[in-house]
Amino acid sequence: MGLAVAAIAALGLAWVRAEGDAPSLLSDEDARDALDVLVGADGREITFAISDAGSGVRSVVAVLIHARGEDTLVETTYPGSWLFGGESGQSFEFAAVIDPAEQKLRDGDAILSVEVRDWSWRENSMREEISVRVDTTPPRVTVDTGLSYVKRGGSGSVRYEVSEPTAFDGVQVGPVDAEGSAFFRGFPVDSSDGSTRGARIAIFAVPTDAPHQADIRVVARDTAGNFATAGWPIVLKERTLPQGQVTLHKKFLDDKVTPLARADRIPTDDLSAAFHLVNTQLRSSNEKTLRAATRDTAGKALFRGAFHQLRNSMVTSRFGEDRRYFIGTKRVSRATHFGYDLAATARAPITASNDGRVVYSGELGIYGECIVIDHGLGVASLYGHLSQRDAPVGVSVRKDEKLGLSGATGLAGGDHLHFAMLVGETYVDPVEWWDPKWVKSHIEVRLPAPSP
Ligand SMILES: [Zn+2]
Repeated sequence: MGLAVAAIAALGLAWVRAEGDAPSLLSDEDARDALDVLVGADGREITFAISDAGSGVRSVVAVLIHARGEDTLVETTYPGSWLFGGESGQSFEFAAVIDPAEQKLRDGDAILSVEVRDWSWRENSMREEISVRVDTTPPRVTVDTGLSYVKRGGSGSVRYEVSEPTAFDGVQVGPVDAEGSAFFRGFPVDSSDGSTRGARIAIFAVPTDAPHQADIRVVARDTAGNFATAGWPIVLKERTLPQGQVTLHKKFLDDKVTPLARADRIPTDDLSAAFHLVNTQLRSSNEKTLRAATRDTAGKALFRGAFHQLRNSMVTSRFGEDRRYFIGTKRVSRATHFGYDLAATARAPITASNDGRVVYSGELGIYGECIVIDHGLGVASLYGHLSQRDAPVGVSVRKDEKLGLSGATGLAGGDHLHFAMLVGETYVDPVEWWDPKWVKSHIEVRLPAPSP
């Protein structure tokens, strides 16, 4: 009787331990989807998950086969025994690191061979070969632009060529990820043939808070991750931005700040604290919404010639003003004013400063009823505090076409237009863009001649 039970148990064990299913292998998404795994000079780590539903994973060996020979990248045995097998169904992760410098790889093709075995008595295994392309050669960047003058808070452009298709290219102002630094995408100068080769243009800006005498360079990264950079003669003119003082009166706090704060669930028991939160927290959330709207920019210039300042308008506040806000004698907040305040008559017709496409049209916190136009190549214009909006998202507009009426919606003390311009994610001084000579010599000179 005991013998029969033992025999059945042994039969059962043999049944389980001699399962015939091969282990399964999952590589990371990029590696699985791409025909080739591209490896740049910085190397690449490819992660895999392996499991075996039957007897469990026993071992994995990953070998890189290349022109000079073979390198074993991974060789691991997982816990288990001949009698009882391993961890059935358990998934393990491992990483194969391809490092061209360490493995002395030359540019070209290689194969990453991965072999996984299980603990079955039948020693099931599976093998997968992943084609690898090693490319450690950085792209060659050639700048075709001569001596350029740019101003803090101002814009500029550069024309350049990159020797191979890129993952990204453009202009980097200041060190990557440092405060006040910014990156500006490049676009093909002539996008008509859809090719990624040939001359490229990047319109860039010097943020008002860019590091002093910030380095401005063309940068490019190829699809394998190799990075290249090139400079050109450029003079950055420093300038001091104006300071301004704004006194907040009770009527403004009651009529403007209270409703904006309430809509954003900011407590209104202390109005100076509420104003500060509207001026910082709500402002920054509005700026995020704007950046999301302007990110989708046309890959060619939609603008033609200089931008137009609102007709018959008077400038009441300039770009870059460092504003301090007071209630009585108490300073309650501070912000940079990144636009021009233009006052005409109340409910004056507001017109498009140049050709483009409406990418935002709606209520936007401190900006009130607001319209944003994309002019292509990362250039956008903003119209705030409107009392009426006539241009919905998606419509194309022509220079001087009516967009709506001026007003005092949002954080505005009286009827005026808040006009601002962005290049990429950076506010720029519109004064340059209003000047036909500046637009011609700093921007249009690098664009293809306009078609008649
Ligand atoms: Zn303003």
